[in-house]
Amino acid sequence: APARPRKPDWLRVKLPIGPDYAAVRKLVDEHKLHTICESGNCPNMGECWGAGTATFMILGNVCTRSCSFCAVATGRPSELDLDEPRRVAEAIALMKVKHAVITSVNRDELKDRGASVWRDTVVFTKQLSPETTIETLIPDVKANWEALETMISGGQEVISHNMETVGSLYRLVRPQAKYDRSLEQIRRTKLAGHRTKSGIMLGLGEKQDEVHQAMDDLVANGLDILTLGQYLQPTKRHLDVAEFIHPEVFAAYREEGLKRGLKYVESGPLVRSSYHAERHVNVPI
Ligand code: SF4
Ligand code: SF4
Repeated sequence: APARPRKPDWLRVKLPIGPDYAAVRKLVDEHKLHTICESGNCPNMGECWGAGTATFMILGNVCTRSCSFCAVATGRPSELDLDEPRRVAEAIALMKVKHAVITSVNRDELKDRGASVWRDTVVFTKQLSPETTIETLIPDVKANWEALETMISGGQEVISHNMETVGSLYRLVRPQAKYDRSLEQIRRTKLAGHRTKSGIMLGLGEKQDEVHQAMDDLVANGLDILTLGQYLQPTKRHLDVAEFIHPEVFAAYREEGLKRGLKYVESGPLVRSSYHAERHVNVPI
């Protein structure tokens, strides 16, 4: 096997974990909530949680899928927790979150893909915290467009669906997903009048022209906001990093994305799809 590339300096970040972080953590635990920040071991936790924001993961913490980059456990999910929307909304209100990012595991076994829990979570959050803006990072509905309609109907400001990688790497990276189906989901979200967002991880072995192609495909399907970040291996059992992309290359991708018609591009080694998410609410539709 080829030697693993060494982690470059620009990825060594300090985690300024202060008292705010501890308070947020306590609240999350008390409300039996899950966050992608913790399960993904995100390097920005100090910054985001310290500022009083976190990404909530709904519909449980066991996923029906097994994407090779993802630290969320795969398996048979627990029973649908219909009280979860209330607890998430309450935690967001108690935390005085200004901008909430909500995501979920995939629940392919559910007929409605968890869409009603999705809608309730957004609606309850807006009821308790009318000033709070919301981004929902939604899963692949597997072409259940009725479920999509419900999922995006709660009044959220940003609707993201991550492509995660270029088309040629789907089988390796997102075995249960399809590149064209995810594009179609974004297209339908845009057609329904929403602010659309997606994310791609770099360093999985994609080629530059494939990234450019993905940008063109996303623009053609109505994407507004794109995030590009470095893939980091959550554990040794996950997909190896193929390459550490230099910050200058990230900067060049940002320029390229804007040139190709994206309205907003967030691009850098530590960018995650929820990083700086509060800024994306202001991107014109
Ligand atoms: Fe959580 Fe996203 Fe911030 Fe990482 S970037 S800590 S996943 S909110
Ligand atoms: Fe992880 Fe989402 Fe893939 Fe499930 S669908 S394994 S939560 S990336």
